[in-house]
Amino acid sequence: MKNNIQKIVTIDGPSGVGKSTISRRVAANLSFTYLDTGAMYRAVGYKLQKNDVDLGDESAVQQCLDTIALQLLPAATENDEVSVILDDHDISLAIRSPQMSMMASKVSAIPAVREKLTRMQQEIGEKGCIVAEGRDTGTVVFPGASWKFYLDADPEERMRRRAAQLRLAGEEVDEDELLQMIIKRDHDDQNRTIAPLCKASDAVIIDTSRLSIDEVVQVMHSSIEV
Ligand code: C5P
Repeated sequence: MKNNIQKIVTIDGPSGVGKSTISRRVAANLSFTYLDTGAMYRAVGYKLQKNDVDLGDESAVQQCLDTIALQLLPAATENDEVSVILDDHDISLAIRSPQMSMMASKVSAIPAVREKLTRMQQEIGEKGCIVAEGRDTGTVVFPGASWKFYLDADPEERMRRRAAQLRLAGEEVDEDELLQMIIKRDHDDQNRTIAPLCKASDAVIIDTSRLSIDEVVQVMHSSIEV
């Protein structure tokens, strides 16, 4: 039997593998809190862009980080994204565009940004009972997590899933451009110096290319014993 502090599930992997839906489902099944770390990088990217901060200017970036008030509110249902409140403004929708995905990836390579968000994530996870989703949750944020998963899928399949999500949200999609963005984001996330996207040595690896969400969730629950 694990104590609450040990009860952390981490789910990492590249974009479009189904991490968010799967993480929310697993969190709901376990009655754990869902921690969307990507939403935090998106929020910081949004703020730095909105304030027109020069990303190469360390002190300007730090100043922006020092004054950030970031709140994640639980999703209304397991099918919804978390709500993100930045400096009293609801930016939940604004941060979900493909452009903001690229911006999040760009700012996620800045050491001060990673330091700040990693610390915030660790504070949120202090009491355990969370499902953390991102790129480095099993390797850097919660290296002692009890259950670690790394999800992967073919880039084309991930592009099709992302395109379907965007179309559902009423957006027009250029599939070739979306695929190029996914490949570039994977490349940048895997090759940055700090906390790159990689598999934790003790993670269970699941290829979701040909599995349904339910099947992936089932595989995960078969190795989680609360
Ligand atoms: O998961 P999501 O697509 O919302 O993440 C947006 C970007 O934030 C990722 O491409 C990645 O660059 C960055 N990120 C990160 N570490 C995390 C979560 C997200 O670097 N733990």
